[in-house]
Amino acid sequence: MITGGCLSGSVRVEAAGEPRRVTHCHCGMCRRAIGTTVATFATFESDKVTWHGELTRYASSDRAWRGFCATCGSSLCFSFNPRPERIYITLGVFDDPDAFPAGFHDCLESKIGWLQVDEHLPEASAFKPTG
Ligand SMILES: [Zn+2]
Ligand SMILES: [Zn+2]
Repeated sequence: MITGGCLSGSVRVEAAGEPRRVTHCHCGMCRRAIGTTVATFATFESDKVTWHGELTRYASSDRAWRGFCATCGSSLCFSFNPRPERIYITLGVFDDPDAFPAGFHDCLESKIGWLQVDEHLPEASAFKPTG
């Protein structure tokens, strides 16, 4: 069981099994939503993820929502409406993020120029059917 939670501890998450993939997303929406230079997400099958506490949703577009803790503001997940069977959990909230290295980049065209992270990894959309 993989566990994680927000800064305040109000929202906890448990995921059964390994992430399907771990992706660095460089798009401007993820950057703003999380407030960092790159957003790293672990993809899970939604039915293998259990939330404890109140996950607050924000509709960040007509195609997606983002989950966060209303107490402390931690960004916890992203969900793409056309693919509700997947949930993308922000890797930084895991209790052991070191165990899940990223394997891919997404939206590299939006990457901050000076940022260097996992330059050897391939680009692949997290939203493709294999993602
Ligand atoms: Zn919190
Ligand atoms: Zn993104």
